[in-house]
Amino acid sequence: MSISHQGIGMTSLRTRQRMIKRLAEQGIKHKRLLEIMRDTPRHIFMDEALSSRAYEDTSLPIGYNQTISQPYIVAKMTEVLLGTVGHLKKVLEIGTGCGYQTAVLAQLVDHVYSVERLLPLQRKAKYHIGELRLKNISYLYGDGNLGWSDYAPYDGILVSAAPVEIPVQLLEQLAIGGVMVIPTGSIGVQVLQRITRTPSGYEIEDLEPVSFVPFLSGTE
Ligand code: SAH
Repeated sequence: MSISHQGIGMTSLRTRQRMIKRLAEQGIKHKRLLEIMRDTPRHIFMDEALSSRAYEDTSLPIGYNQTISQPYIVAKMTEVLLGTVGHLKKVLEIGTGCGYQTAVLAQLVDHVYSVERLLPLQRKAKYHIGELRLKNISYLYGDGNLGWSDYAPYDGILVSAAPVEIPVQLLEQLAIGGVMVIPTGSIGVQVLQRITRTPSGYEIEDLEPVSFVPFLSGTE
């Protein structure tokens, strides 16, 4: 790892170890996930002015009115997604954003298909993920309402922006036995949901209250 990836001071391994300890105290149990979050340099995904705050348990601005999800939310959503299904082959992510969640996921599943509606963010994400030499990711610049039908069905779908209602095409692109993790609701009253597709329909479970940027339509 290069010096900028290893980090110094507030971005050092010690700072990251503190983040992992906090995540474990907050109830995250998945060992491999915790190790990956310890070893993935979160600070390279954000502007230098904010990199000293990268390991705080908070969401931070990444430009274009968007935010990088707080470490706890990244960990929680990933843990729920990995859940009981065991090994995930294909995961669809809606809302690549800065690419940090994408990078964490890519180290735990076979392939990540990631959709983003803001081109400049997608470009940045590709660049930083490239620095980490992760290659099992495909990117689509498009509207996540449509999912990515070319590679459907997916064993897992992770959505990092909150729609008022779950887009139908995402439900359709989930494999039977697959799990979707998605925040739903309008600003201030959102809940994280786990949707499991069964042979006869969908099981929906409310997990915890959350605060996400809105899920928008179209591309910009
Ligand atoms: N996991 C990302 C979250 C970024 S914020 C990170 O930690 O950086 C949510 C992202 O979802 C934004 O980049 C936003 O542009 C994107 N988004 C919102 N609605 C979308 C849609 N319909 N299709 C694709 N991306 C969408």
